[in-house]
Amino acid sequence: MNTAERLKNIDVGHVSFSEPLSSHCSWRIGGPADALVQPDSEEQILRLLEFVRGEGIPLLVIGRGTNILFPDGGIRGVVLKLGRRFSGFSFSGARVRAKGGVWVPRLVRNIADAGLSGMEHASGIPGSLGGLVTMNGGSLRRSVGENILSVDAVSHAGEMRTFSREECDFSYRHSFFQCSGTRDEERWIILGALLELTPGDRGAIRREQLRILEERRVKFPHHQPNCGSVFSNVPAVYDLAGPPGRIVEETGLKGKQVGGAQVSFCHANFIVNMGGATARDVLSLIGEVRRRVYDRIGVWLDCEVRYADERGVLVPASEACL
Ligand SMILES: Cc1cc2nc3c(=O)[nH]c(=O)nc-3n(C[C@H](O)[C@H](O)[C@H](O)COP(=O)(O)OP(=O)(O)OC[C@H]3O[C@@H](n4cnc5c(N)ncnc54)[C@H](O)[C@@H]3O)c2cc1C
Repeated sequence: MNTAERLKNIDVGHVSFSEPLSSHCSWRIGGPADALVQPDSEEQILRLLEFVRGEGIPLLVIGRGTNILFPDGGIRGVVLKLGRRFSGFSFSGARVRAKGGVWVPRLVRNIADAGLSGMEHASGIPGSLGGLVTMNGGSLRRSVGENILSVDAVSHAGEMRTFSREECDFSYRHSFFQCSGTRDEERWIILGALLELTPGDRGAIRREQLRILEERRVKFPHHQPNCGSVFSNVPAVYDLAGPPGRIVEETGLKGKQVGGAQVSFCHANFIVNMGGATARDVLSLIGEVRRRVYDRIGVWLDCEVRYADERGVLVPASEACL
C-alpha cells in the first residue's frame, strides 16, 4: 500500500489528492498539493498528525490562503485546512469563543450584531480566525492580538495547550505562531481563541463597520485576484518614507507587470493576478519592486505575504523573491 492509500484508510476528515492549491488561495495561484485534508474534529487532527509523523511527510497548515503564495509545482506533502466543524463561535457576556476556521467577516458581523465593539478594525479582512491570529492581522493601526484573551492550539507533536495573550507574543503583524521553529513540538495548529470585547451601541458599531468596508471598497482592487498588502508597513520605514503603497507608487511602479502579475493601478501595495499569473511571476515582480525601491530610497521592503516552498515551509515572500 502506498502513502495515499494508507491515508485513505484512516479517519482524518475529508481528503482530496492532487488538489489544486490555486482553488484555496485568493491569488488563484499554485500547483497541486499531494493531499489536502480537512479535519472536522480534534481527534481527526491528532490522527493526521500521527500519520504524517510516522510517514515523515511535510505538513502545511493553511486558513483561507489570503496571505500565502503557493509554489507553481505545488506541495509534496499534506496541506491541512480546518474543516466546516471548526467554524463555530459562542458568546458569553462580552466574550466570544470562536473556532480557528471561522471566516473573519462572519465573526465580525456577528460580534457587531451582539452589540460588542472592538473588532471593527477587522471588517473586510477575508481570512480565517487562525490566519488572523497567526498574522496578528487588523487595520487602522489595530491588531487582533488586542482582543485576544487566550488561544487554544495543538502542536504537530500532538500536545494540546492554551496560550495566554502574553505567550502569543503579539507585535505588529507578528505572533508566536509564525516563527515557532521547525521541530514538531514548536509548531502549532490554532484550534480556536477567546476574545474579549466591549459592550457598545449595536447601530453605531455596525455603522463603523460599514464605513470601514466602504473605505476598503474604494481603496483596494476587487475585481482581480490578490493577496491584500504585499509589503509590510513597518513603523521605521513609515517614518522615513511613508506607507509601502506610497513608496512603490512614488518609485513609478504602478502598473509594472511581469507575466500575469501586475502592481495594481488601484493601490500600489497590491499585486494582482491579471489572468494566468504564476508564483514565479509574482516573485520576480516582488524582486523588481524591492530593487527599484532600494535604488531610490535605500530601503529593502519586507513582505507581509508568505511564500510556501514545495515542502510547505513558509517564509516572507521577500526572502524567496527572484
Ligand atoms: C483583499 C484582501 C485584503 C486584506 N486586508 C488585510 C488587512 O486589512 N489587514 C491584515 O492584517 N491582513 C489583510 N489581508 C491579508 C490576510 O487576509 C490576513 O493576513 C489573514 O488574517 C490571513 O488569514 P488566512 O486564513 O487567509 O490565512 P492563510 O493565508 O491561509 O495563512 C496565513 C498564515 O497563517 C497560518 N495559519 C492559518 N490558519 C492557521 C491555523 N488554524 N493554525 C496555525 N496556523 C494557521 C498559515 O500557516 C500562514 O502562516 C488581506 C487579504 C486580502 C486578500
